[in-house]
Amino acid sequence: MLRLKNIRYISLSKVLNILRLQKFYRKAKHGNFSTEVPPPSFANYEPTNICNLACKMCPSGKGMLKRPRGTADMELYKKFILENRHTLTNIMLHFQGEPLMFQQLGEMISFARQNRIHTMFSTNGQLLAQNIDLIRNARPDHIIVSLDGLTDETYTKYRVGGKVQNVFDGLEKLSQLPANERPYIELQFLVFSHNEHEIPYLQKLEKKYRIDKITLKTAQIYDESQIEFLPNDQKYSRYNISNGKFKLKKSQENHCKRLIFGTTICFDGRVVPCCFDKDADHEFGNISSQSLAEIRNSEKFRNFVKQVFTQRNGIDICNNCTE
Ligand code: SF4
Repeated sequence: MLRLKNIRYISLSKVLNILRLQKFYRKAKHGNFSTEVPPPSFANYEPTNICNLACKMCPSGKGMLKRPRGTADMELYKKFILENRHTLTNIMLHFQGEPLMFQQLGEMISFARQNRIHTMFSTNGQLLAQNIDLIRNARPDHIIVSLDGLTDETYTKYRVGGKVQNVFDGLEKLSQLPANERPYIELQFLVFSHNEHEIPYLQKLEKKYRIDKITLKTAQIYDESQIEFLPNDQKYSRYNISNGKFKLKKSQENHCKRLIFGTTICFDGRVVPCCFDKDADHEFGNISSQSLAEIRNSEKFRNFVKQVFTQRNGIDICNNCTE
């Protein structure tokens, strides 16, 4: 999200790169993939894929990730930042796992900010209160706090192992920070059948905790057994249900902005198309041995782009994606 104070993250080279990305994207939509793929303007970089909760429907929390568990290598991360600082406008320090489980998250944020890159991360909020000094010192620009229930009963139906009071305590601490030290706070509420009745009460939280934005997010499900989690109010569901089967409401067009404008890096340096590739099944390369420019212009990446722009429904992850 671009606010006036974020103007410091804009530079001529970043604007020119966005124009190049737009040009590549337009041409790819018309079947022309001949030019070099420009560097991304935003990135997800995974601090860790370890989590402190066991959320239903989350492969990481449920222990179903096939890839190893681990934490980011700071030298590799810094190399990535230095190599991409003239084109990267925004870095999102989350993918799988809970970012606040990584002790050097503050250093990751500070280093990106020193290099004039906008920083954000998404958290389940369980460790927010105890990390308030990390936030005050590192000064992330934007934090997304997930809160999908207002009582322990509704909250723990999805956030297994969590306590709703921990999230409230974290929001309280954030709200007490002086205005010039407070990040932009976005509260994200995943709407399910068991919490949709709580939506009207969110506005009270907005005032109480000085929240900047509340986002009602539709849930992604992976199999028919999870249909029962979908809310009754259709406007909060991304699926149509028929005969016990689910199908995305939105028609899937053969293009994807996220793939061209962004990139996703696993904690161990592997580059994947986007955060839907939770198990790195479509790995393109590793920034520990190649530059991002090499990876994005490899045959593997270019073939993936061609397939998304010609026959996207042939790719497993793209089939259940609303992008
Ligand atoms: S899953 Fe496919 S269509 Fe969706 S964001 Fe990723 S690459 Fe794009």
